[in-house]
Amino acid sequence: MEREADPREVFLSFLQREGLNVTRSRLAVLEALAHLPKHFEAAELWGLVRPRVSAATVYRTLELLQRAGLVRKVEFGEAHAHYERTFGREDHGHLVCRRCGRVWEFPTEASRRAVEEAAQEQGFFLKEVVIQGYGVCAGCRAREGPGV
Ligand SMILES: [Zn+2]
Ligand SMILES: [Zn+2]
Repeated sequence: MEREADPREVFLSFLQREGLNVTRSRLAVLEALAHLPKHFEAAELWGLVRPRVSAATVYRTLELLQRAGLVRKVEFGEAHAHYERTFGREDHGHLVCRRCGRVWEFPTEASRRAVEEAAQEQGFFLKEVVIQGYGVCAGCRAREGPGV
């Protein structure tokens, strides 16, 4: 596995490329990522940097971090979006319980390879692979039966 680039360097060169200023607020948001749970909401991120950084700046910086490839949005089928950082983590898929909303992670090497091979056969430029399953978790099934 190749050595992962330092997220701070990645972000700084992204900002430079985009002609954006390196501000203390933007760096504070980046650094707060390390102190969040695996999957987090924008409000939780704001909770770590307020009141120094405004909510609007947190949302705008999250957009920048996504464009820089350091954060990705994950869709768990809920009203509010969740995010996760992409650095310092293995690639993984999600199993999402439709009832309790809990999320489990699992390794996706084999399925990722299948997607990459399919993309290559189609001459397709692959930007992102999302592997996710929805259903009912063991705990909810034990409590409420197997239906959805
Ligand atoms: Zn559940
Ligand atoms: Zn995850």
